Formats: sequence, C-alpha cells, structure tokens
Amino acid sequence: MFCDVMNNDRHFDVVIVGGAIIGACTAWFLRDEGYAGSIAIIDRDHSFAHASTALSAGGIRQQFSEIENIRLSRFGLTFLREFETRFGVDPGFHENGYLLLASRAGQSTLVDNHKVQIGAGARSRLLAAGDLAQTFPFIHADDIALASFGVKNEGWFDPHTVLMAIRKALRGRDVTFIEDEVVAISRQDSQISAVSLAGGTRINCSGLVNAAGPGAGAVAKLAGIDLPVEPRKRTVFSFSCRTKFEPMPLIVDPTGVWVRPEGSGFITGVSPPADKDGPAAEDDFEPDYHLFEEVIWPILAARIPAFEAIKPTGQWAGHYDYNTFDQNAIIGPHPTLKNFYFANGFSGHGLQQAPAAGRALAEYIMTGRYKSIDCSRFSYSRISSSEPFLEQNVI
Ligand SMILES: Cc1cc2nc3c(=O)[nH]c(=O)nc-3n(C[C@H](O)[C@H](O)[C@H](O)COP(=O)(O)OP(=O)(O)OC[C@H]3O[C@@H](n4cnc5c(N)ncnc54)[C@H](O)[C@@H]3O)c2cc1C
Repeated sequence: MFCDVMNNDRHFDVVIVGGAIIGACTAWFLRDEGYAGSIAIIDRDHSFAHASTALSAGGIRQQFSEIENIRLSRFGLTFLREFETRFGVDPGFHENGYLLLASRAGQSTLVDNHKVQIGAGARSRLLAAGDLAQTFPFIHADDIALASFGVKNEGWFDPHTVLMAIRKALRGRDVTFIEDEVVAISRQDSQISAVSLAGGTRINCSGLVNAAGPGAGAVAKLAGIDLPVEPRKRTVFSFSCRTKFEPMPLIVDPTGVWVRPEGSGFITGVSPPADKDGPAAEDDFEPDYHLFEEVIWPILAARIPAFEAIKPTGQWAGHYDYNTFDQNAIIGPHPTLKNFYFANGFSGHGLQQAPAAGRALAEYIMTGRYKSIDCSRFSYSRISSSEPFLEQNVI
C-alpha cells in the first residue's frame, strides 16, 4: 500500500483545490500573467452539480457599501464585457440593473452607500418616491422612502456558461484537471508540502490555493487552519406571471426578498431568518419549500400587485460560501503558512468577484504582492486580529 502511494506521487507548482469559478479564474489569470509553473486544479465533482457557481443567481452589481467590494465587482464587469472576445462565448449578460428599495429606516444607509458608490465610479442613481413610481409604475411604493437604481454596469449573466468557457480555455493552456477529493494536507515547517487524494494519489506542491467554496472551511481544517467559512443554504424559486414588465431590474425589497426576470418567467429568494440560518450539511440540497408560501409570496404580492396571480414553476437550493466572521471575502496568503492562499467566504457575491480575486491571487503568487487589484483589506489577518470588515449590502 505504501509503495502504491509512493508510485502515485506527483508534483505541481500550484495546486488549486476547487475547480469552479474561483479556481478556474485563478488558473486563468496565472497563465494570463505569464506564469510558467505547473498548475493542477483538483475537484471532487466535474459535473459541478452542487457547486455554488452552478447554483448561483448570476448577479453582478456595483451597489455595495465598501469601496473594495465595488472595485472587485467592477473588475468582474470588465471581464464580462471582454468575455466573448476572449473566450468566444456569449456570457448572457442582461444589463437590467439592481433596484434597492428602502423604507424610512433604511434611507440614510442608502444615501451613505450611494456616496461611496459614486466615489468609486459606479453608475447608481437615487430615486425619490415620485421618481420611483414614474420609472417603475408596476411597483407599489407607498411605504418606500428612497430607492437606488444601478442604471448601468449591473445585471446578471449565465454562471454555468462562463465557468465552462473558462475551463475549456484552460485546457489549451497547460493546466491539469484532476477529478478527486482532497482528504489530507501535509505541512513541512511553515509550508504546505502536499495534498493527499481520496483515490490514493499524493501530490507535492509549492503552493496551494483554497478555492473550495462552501467547503473552504473544511479544506483549511485539513491544514490545521481555522477559517470561518461554512455552507449556508439558500433556496431560489421560479414562477410565471401573465404580466410582463419591461425593463425589469433585479428588485430588492426592504425585507430582503429579491426578484428578477429569468427567461419567460421570474426567480426570487430571501435569506432565512438569522435564528434559522445555521450551517448546512455538506450534502443537504433540499429546498426550504416553506419560505415561498410563508415569506416570499406575500411580500412579492404586496410589492408588485400583478404578482398576486402567479404560478410557481420550480425551485433549487445551493450553498453560500458564508463567512461567519464578517460576510466578506478572505483573499491572500495565510500569515504564517505563506504558501497557503485563500479565496473564500464571498457570502453571496463570489461569482462576480471571482475574476478580480483570481487576478489578485495570481499576481500575489507570482510576485509576492498585489499589482493591479489591492486585496489587502480582505486578508486573513483581520480574523486573527478580530477586526471585522463589514459589508452592509449582503443580499
Ligand atoms: C443560491 C445562490 C445564489 C447566488 N447568487 C449570487 C449572485 O447573484 N452573484 C454572485 O456574485 N454570487 C452569487 N452566489 C455566490 C457565488 O455563487 C459563490 O460565491 C461562488 O460561486 C463561489 O465560487 P467557488 O468557486 O469558490 O465555489 P464553488 O462554486 O462551490 O466551487 C467549489 C468547488 O470546490 C470543490 N471542492 C470542495 N471541497 C473539495 C475537496 N476537499 N476536494 C476537491 N474538491 C473540493 C467542489 O466540488 C466545488 O466544485 C450565489 C450562491 C448561491 C448558492
């Protein structure tokens, strides 16, 4: 047995654990930046059926409260705009914008966030109640004090198409794909030296990127690292309605319920109440069916009266890669295990931030610093020093 394992020994300069959007973007930018070392991407499931990436709602926005998040998403937007030229595939970008609605209680937060967004070059516009009613007459807005609308550079795209196109392009760029599960990580002094796979192979490496999405906390634990990232279940419901609204943005109600068009129908969702929002079992993808009848539909029908008459058409559940510490990404090297790199805990906005995170990590791996996208605010050290970096707009 020992000999078998030894015979299966391999070496890669960079091993990326997780081959969905974060892992694929990191490998893409390593090659794009001219990295000549060997790269392996290891994923336990090449169907990606349960990956967050494939189950995501595909949204991209500029309306965050923190300038660093706006910058990451703006890079994601540039990547999306150049996608077809680079990868020869239409990413299906619908630039319909996000419309965030605030009651009187949330009005000042919306104003504060708007200032940050404009300062960062975002194209969001504040709409007073009268303007809102004129621009989006299908919305019942009596209790809305203010709205913020992303008039440009926001919307949604097709995550599966994007992921598959990047992975296909990586095949021509000397990246090795391995379908197996990382079950152990070996350390030597203050370095990661190897990963062991469920199939028995041991892979030596000079650097390891944790791109395991909701499983990132478990992967970090294999290296003896505490990472406050866990799977949190989020259910998306689809429905049809005879009435169509053109153009309809992604609307976020003050209650947190969101809704947007999808094909000839609509999709919607809401986070479970905080006291019911615990870690999900790794294999639990059973939708929270009750949320639609009990929470979402009454709110939708009150907000958009045409939604009183709708027909549910389906649902699915996915896992957020949820950062329990401050709901923001953790990007960059571990402070002492310096060849262990994080790109984790995006808490619902990782799809749009993957290109920026991938590029920043690629730069860091190659040069030991960030060049084009400074991700220092996202570093792991804020966790060890207990200094949360909070984002107000987590949807
Ligand atoms: C319902 C829902 C809606 C969302 N909506 C949006 C949105 O509108 N906009 C947005 O930007 N983001 C959204 N997100 C979040 C976004 O999808 C994630 O942040 C992002 O996809 C994370 O990408 P990832 O590659 O890190 O993780 P994943 O896509 O989950 O990929 C991780 C991969 O790691 C693999 N893996 C894990 N552990 C191991 C191991 N030990 N060995 C080998 N492989 C392993 C898994 O098989 C998986 O393929 C949403 C998420 C959900 C669930």
